[in-house]
Amino acid sequence: MSAAPLHSRGLAALASGLAQREFSSVELTRHLLGRLEAAQPQLNAMVSITGEAALAAAARADGAIASGRAGPLTGVPIVHKDIFCTEGVRTTCGSRMLDNFVSPYDATVVANLKAAGTVMLGKANMDEFAMGSSNETSWFGPVKNPWNTAMVPGGSSGGSAAVVAARLAPAATATDTGGSIRQPAALTGITGLKPTYGRVSRYGMIAFASSLDQAGVLAASAEDCALLLGAMAGFDPRDSTSVDQPVPDYAAALATPAKGLRIGLVKEFFDQGLDAENERQLRAAFAVYEKLGATLVDVSLPNVGLSVPTYYVVAPAECSSNLARFDGVRFGHRCDQPRDLLDLYKRSRGEGFGAEVKRRIMTGTYVLSAGYYDAYYLKAQRVRQLISADFVRAFEHVDVLAGPTSPTPAFPLGAKTSDPITMYLNDIYTIGANLAGVPALSIPCGFVHDLPVGLQLVGPHFSEAKLLAAAHAFQQETDWHARVPAVWQ
Ligand code: GLN
Repeated sequence: MSAAPLHSRGLAALASGLAQREFSSVELTRHLLGRLEAAQPQLNAMVSITGEAALAAAARADGAIASGRAGPLTGVPIVHKDIFCTEGVRTTCGSRMLDNFVSPYDATVVANLKAAGTVMLGKANMDEFAMGSSNETSWFGPVKNPWNTAMVPGGSSGGSAAVVAARLAPAATATDTGGSIRQPAALTGITGLKPTYGRVSRYGMIAFASSLDQAGVLAASAEDCALLLGAMAGFDPRDSTSVDQPVPDYAAALATPAKGLRIGLVKEFFDQGLDAENERQLRAAFAVYEKLGATLVDVSLPNVGLSVPTYYVVAPAECSSNLARFDGVRFGHRCDQPRDLLDLYKRSRGEGFGAEVKRRIMTGTYVLSAGYYDAYYLKAQRVRQLISADFVRAFEHVDVLAGPTSPTPAFPLGAKTSDPITMYLNDIYTIGANLAGVPALSIPCGFVHDLPVGLQLVGPHFSEAKLLAAAHAFQQETDWHARVPAVWQ
């Protein structure tokens, strides 16, 4: 038996250790629950830790392993972002609005991962309704970055990312509407994949902006992401935008070498706003790919500079519609002693939503209003088409696109909370992939001032296997993804 502590092993290593009965799922689950509880005062990464249910599930998994009924992920503990509905366990979406909401059913992602034998340790903290880039909009307080607790972990999947970065769980589910998987992955030094729109079911995932929302994974390595994605992806008749395409064996595809891979360096991503030190790390990463036999090609996405304004019309428009259901009647927090129906709506929504969510609902309602629909919403939809077409054209020449995930490493808590526009610019490199519906991932590629830096790879629709293989090839050559903050080792 290897001497490495259980928490330092990745998902793939834990799965094989369980299968070989090196340790039990109960033993592993108990160990990680202890770490999650102990880390909570420092990191605030979790909204709920479901210890009792986790130990019961772990015992069942051990039974399945003992009787030879185990699958590849049986007994592996994971954490779910608190945006996924979990039967019998509170799902808050980081909001006071859903503080006491207990879903009567599991999201498809949760059901699929349950069926694959994973053990849920609890639900991760997140920005309210997934709106944010720093995890500071959560009703449950900010999550801290495990590399430096004065810094943000990124958002909106900051809790999921912090849990993996501090090795409190080997992997976590997350969602990405404009960067919420990739940006926190970059800021906490882990691997995060946003799949193609339609690859993973959105059923039971609380909607923010339905044409952009996509569920994905966070883990230490591409290999671990491949395992988890394989178990959660697939066609779901309950999601009308789910695509009926077979799920490839992502783990088997990892062996594809990077030799001959044509990597497009997106010119617009290096023009301005990118931290110089950050850029140096990225250039070093490109050199690693060249050494592996990949070719670097300069490409342009001429309209990608319009991504942020386009997103901040489309996403608020969709959110204003999606969040209309939280009215204190059908769903959500209800105010005390309403005088009449209007008072009930006003006070329930006024009390239940935080400032950022209200800002988006108001922006969205405005851009959809009769007088402004054409000028803002329709225009944004047209620009979205131009941005999507840029990606299609680029993929005629290259296999994947490469660039930064985020303009800077993690920033201090509170540094950007009073200036929404500065906060929105965090997603300048990630939003394009959501607007185009293409898959993208972030892998750690170095450090700046002792904080991790992420490299983003973007591929054509349904190229997850190719992206994961490209990331895996890099991770075979480097050990950035294996670095863990000293206090969490
Ligand atoms: N930071 C972006 C926003 O606030 C993206 C969020 C997300 O991907 N869920 O909208």
